[in-house]
Amino acid sequence: MSTAPILSCEKVTVAFDGFKAVNGMDLQLMPGELRFLIGPNGAGKTTMLDVICGKVKAASGTLRFMNEFDISRKKEYEIAELGIGRKFQAPSIFVGLTVYENLELAMSQNRSVWATLRATMSRDEHTRIMRQLDMIGLTHRANTVAGGLSHGEKQWLEIGMMLMQEPSLLLLDEPVAGMTDTETEKTGELLQEIIKERTVVVVEHDMDFVRSFATKVTVMHEGKLLKEGTMQEVQEDEVVSEVYLGH
Ligand code: ADP
Repeated sequence: MSTAPILSCEKVTVAFDGFKAVNGMDLQLMPGELRFLIGPNGAGKTTMLDVICGKVKAASGTLRFMNEFDISRKKEYEIAELGIGRKFQAPSIFVGLTVYENLELAMSQNRSVWATLRATMSRDEHTRIMRQLDMIGLTHRANTVAGGLSHGEKQWLEIGMMLMQEPSLLLLDEPVAGMTDTETEKTGELLQEIIKERTVVVVEHDMDFVRSFATKVTVMHEGKLLKEGTMQEVQEDEVVSEVYLGH
């Protein structure tokens, strides 16, 4: 097993009109890790995901992916091609297509290729889609139009669509927000499956959800790394408690 980080962010700063939403942040992820990024509102967590996937650019600092590429100057689509997938809070699925078609489309990445692919789809590709449906628990929904799915099912479909592109690193922004307890639990099981093959960073406010994993947590505050460790270590930290007062 490789001991090199899959992602290494050093002294990353992102500024909006001079305001440093991320201010000298360090973040290192090992392959196969599930890392939660927590912190009070406005700490810079979402902006940190945005800079990793190239949606916003770093004013300074370096971001190395797979210990090889400096991705800090790359465009968003180039970063996606290198294997970093980003899921936003609102699902971006095609509501008029079926669940199966959404996954098919995600595999082909754009509509013109999709048309060709549909005519030539191999048994292997069909098998891949069926496996993906099984993993996200939507086999029974394959022919359902995506617009008719529940909130949780839409979130899983979008995660499935990201996985069809085989990213090495997934960035998820509050995946369980608005979910029922049962949906939250299923999402936890899905994350456990995903990290068997990939690395995942999750920005999360639901502390009960974070606590249900024995994994490392990174606390951000005012654009900086405040504390890193297990949830227990983080909770016992006085500075962290102070930052969270009132939350
Ligand atoms: P978090 O995800 O931890 O709640 P964000 O990364 O969303 O924090 O935001 C960090 C800070 O940066 C906030 O003060 C927010 O208002 C500001 N910010 C985020 N995006 C922008 C933007 N596009 N333009 C201006 N300010 C922004």
